[in-house]
Amino acid sequence: MTKDARVYLVGAGPGNPGLLTLRAVECLRLADVVIYDKLVPASFLDYAPEGAEKICVASLAACHEQRHRPVQETMIEAARAGKTVVRLKGGDPLIFGRGGEEAQALHAAGVPFEIVPGVSAGLGAAAFAGIPLTHRLHASAVAFVTGHENPEKCQPIDWSALARFPGTLVIYMGMSRLGHIVKMLLNEGREPHTPAAVVHWATTGEQQTVTAPLADLPQAVKAAGVAAPAIIIIGTVVALRPDLAWFERLPLLGKRVLVTRPRHQAGELAQRLQLLGAVTSVLPTVEIREPADWTPVDRALRELASYHWLVFTSANGVHAFLSRLKHLGKDVRCLGHLKLAAIGPKTADALRHYHLEPDLVPGRFQSEDLAQALKSQILPEQRVLLARADRGRELLRDELSRHCTVEQVAVYSQVDAVAADESVLNSLRRGEIDYITLTSSNIARALVQSLDAPARSRLENGDIRLVTLSPVTSAEVRALGLPVAAEARAATMDSLVDTLVELAQLERRTG
Ligand code: SAH
Repeated sequence: MTKDARVYLVGAGPGNPGLLTLRAVECLRLADVVIYDKLVPASFLDYAPEGAEKICVASLAACHEQRHRPVQETMIEAARAGKTVVRLKGGDPLIFGRGGEEAQALHAAGVPFEIVPGVSAGLGAAAFAGIPLTHRLHASAVAFVTGHENPEKCQPIDWSALARFPGTLVIYMGMSRLGHIVKMLLNEGREPHTPAAVVHWATTGEQQTVTAPLADLPQAVKAAGVAAPAIIIIGTVVALRPDLAWFERLPLLGKRVLVTRPRHQAGELAQRLQLLGAVTSVLPTVEIREPADWTPVDRALRELASYHWLVFTSANGVHAFLSRLKHLGKDVRCLGHLKLAAIGPKTADALRHYHLEPDLVPGRFQSEDLAQALKSQILPEQRVLLARADRGRELLRDELSRHCTVEQVAVYSQVDAVAADESVLNSLRRGEIDYITLTSSNIARALVQSLDAPARSRLENGDIRLVTLSPVTSAEVRALGLPVAAEARAATMDSLVDTLVELAQLERRTG
């Protein structure tokens, strides 16, 4: 697809990462400039190229009423300068989002544009709270209504008509006027027992739903302490919710999980946890870089013919090794004579990505088991090339060197991340995280180093629980003086996620 100077008015959906459309992701990948609403999750911006300019609407103008003008001017100016602009808006761009006005301004300025629909918050709230907006037996119509009446608007809301509307009402931006809205509907004749709901932060791990008969809704919302952003749904269909509230039954709903993997690997784990209902944050404690010196790797690559086994202990190692091979003008054909070993399924998958099938993956995924498995297959006169990080355990090399010739090369460098994100550190200090996932001893060490005393004490006293990938990581955590709440049964991401779910369920049962 070619880039062009145009504006994409893109709906980002209500917040759940799975509800971003494929077209929205395509547009973000093309963006030179992204102008995004405050409600759009920051992680969605990662789809844009790293060098793209990212501008929050809130930063363009503090004054609410004037806010749209600088947004329009910024879009038009950037497009005229030949840039591809994504205007990323919460939910759907044409539902209460001024998307229509923005498109009109673009048309008037002669700037070409495309409108990409998104899942509107009302639809997301209904699906994730288990409320069918229409139902053959209960509602044949649905009305989307704004609860935030702008006095300058030419279209005042006809509450009398809405009170008589024979269907479901879905009200946006109504929380600050909830009492007033309910009063108007009741005064105009809506039945006080009509089932009603407020869905707060719909589709995200922070989703909270309050239901009550219409007349009692303001009181129930107040008692639950629920505020904006929220969608109000009024209609008999709300009564169907108890059987249909699938999302609120998810095992990690509302659990706050901190993922500490390097940034380029954190997204996958974070997204899987989010799909189980968790609220995730990411604190990369280590980063992957090129090794300080390629000379030993390049030498080994020139001498590949002299090796019998090529061993990888991480997916990062596989990618780094193969990209260096490519850099030197070679390809996988020069690996044809080698036997390949991978420490675990992710490393094996990384090899398969290059159409290389590992000859050996141990039954358990740690260095001890890989060493054992290799020793049973390698002959003493054979030579092994071990491609790995520039730091980590030496066990594999030490064990194998007793048995055969081993050359170990650092194909990538792992460094502690420089600056920890202050907002994540604050959440740790305040104990606003339930679990931290730790996937290696280096990550565990780097995390603990980045903590100050208040944050550390949250880990010590179990306010924040540590869940580890393997016995080696657990041993490191204990050596650092911290308790391990749970350890994955197998050293895989699947097992880590299962373990976290089991722990959360256990804690829920035991209160
Ligand atoms: N264009 C958006 C609506 C923008 S108006 C859309 O189609 O969804 C902003 C209002 O949307 C908020 O005041 C709130 O009522 C609602 N909203 C947005 N995201 C929400 C969410 N995740 N949960 C509940 N309500 C949300």
